[in-house]
Amino acid sequence: MNRIEPGSTIVIGAGLSGLATAHALTERGLPVTVLEARDRVAYPWRKRHPALRLNIHRKFAGLPGQAAPKTDGTYLKRDTVVAHLERYAARLDAPIHFGVAATSVERSGTGWRVTTNASVYEAQNLVIATGRESIPHIPDWPGHKAFAGELLHVADLGDVSRFDGKRVLVVGAGNSGTDALNHLSRHNPAEVMVSVRYGPAVAPKSLFGYPIHGLARVFAVLPNAVLDPAFKLIERLFLGDLRRYGLTSHPDGGSTRLLRDGVTFAIDDGFVAALKSGRFQIVPRVEGFSGEAVRHAGGSICRPDVVIAATGYRSGLEPLLGHLDVLDENGRPRHPMGERDPKWPGLWFAGFKPTYTGFFDAAGIAARRIATCVAADSHPVARPKTPDMRGPHVDHHRPVPSDASTS
Ligand SMILES: Cc1cc2nc3c(=O)[nH]c(=O)nc-3n(C[C@H](O)[C@H](O)[C@H](O)COP(=O)(O)OP(=O)(O)OC[C@H]3O[C@@H](n4cnc5c(N)ncnc54)[C@H](O)[C@@H]3O)c2cc1C
Repeated sequence: MNRIEPGSTIVIGAGLSGLATAHALTERGLPVTVLEARDRVAYPWRKRHPALRLNIHRKFAGLPGQAAPKTDGTYLKRDTVVAHLERYAARLDAPIHFGVAATSVERSGTGWRVTTNASVYEAQNLVIATGRESIPHIPDWPGHKAFAGELLHVADLGDVSRFDGKRVLVVGAGNSGTDALNHLSRHNPAEVMVSVRYGPAVAPKSLFGYPIHGLARVFAVLPNAVLDPAFKLIERLFLGDLRRYGLTSHPDGGSTRLLRDGVTFAIDDGFVAALKSGRFQIVPRVEGFSGEAVRHAGGSICRPDVVIAATGYRSGLEPLLGHLDVLDENGRPRHPMGERDPKWPGLWFAGFKPTYTGFFDAAGIAARRIATCVAADSHPVARPKTPDMRGPHVDHHRPVPSDASTS
């Protein structure tokens, strides 16, 4: 077996979290190899619907060493996010091995061994940056496989204009569901029903014309005891009493749900107006499907042409990491944002903790934490910091070595 290079790191995932960490490590002169299952960067963003914009302020959409583009105003367009990440990857001074999917991970001596579809890699450190929303989740509703209409996950929304003239049922009004509803409000579906267990914590996009997310740093330092009632008050003052339209409130406040449960706020940009005008209607939660009908709690039914399941995502980490006991009961890492795990030296996670400032900012924080610890742990081998990120270096289909590539 090859000797593991001291200070070396394998990063699994070339999304913004993995790239930011790889960048922070190379800045400290530490050797990194990035493994990416897809054939290019930003696959999750390319797959999202074309009208999507970030719901975070541009000032929080930068990555370490690269500010967010200013072309789109406050909220970056999907294609701009893709270009932003492509540029970041192209400037990274480390190899990215595309088409390489990690299939298992295990401790190996003082380091980590990663088995992939292509080869086996070993390094002293391992960063898991495979994304919080890896796997779209649709509940196993009775009868849903035989539904006569179209049932899709919101991850496959596509161009929203294709729902014009159709009866649409959106299940779930969290962040993704509300995004779909905001876009549907600007098109012409024949009918839109929204099935929710609890209404989301809804925040207006702006307050007196100022983007509410611009205040994220302030929110980030305030306690939930202040933020929960404050957001409730903002919702009531700026959007009205949504219970009158059928949206019941969750017993816990929006800030508690974000920071404790990882449930992000729903940002209103048309949904609430459509609800108030009667264009959208709240219906009870879905219990099952029969033929062309959807059955709701309480016994009512509806007959939509299309059901959009905005029912969340799974990180899909169990097969890779379940044996290490590093995940909580919901399958999320217990150390989600670059914190050291005393039980497993050299194992790190990035991109698994929602924060007020969003995932780009969180990626920078996790990256700095990881790189600082890795550099400290491997002090003798760290080379001087490179002056800046060097020119195009993405290694698009680099042949994967047949032995441990990082040593
Ligand atoms: C519809 C939608 C809208 C969103 N909007 C925002 C927003 O406005 N602002 C915000 O901050 N966040 C938003 N998010 C959250 C968003 O997912 C993150 O911002 C961002 O994509 C997370 O980046 P990441 O690098 O952690 O994960 P990802 O972007 O998911 O990247 C993970 C990478 O790992 C690769 N990978 C996975 N498994 C393996 C494996 N086994 N081996 C090798 N490679 C692997 C994947 O192919 C992927 O390229 C949104 C999410 C969704 C679903």
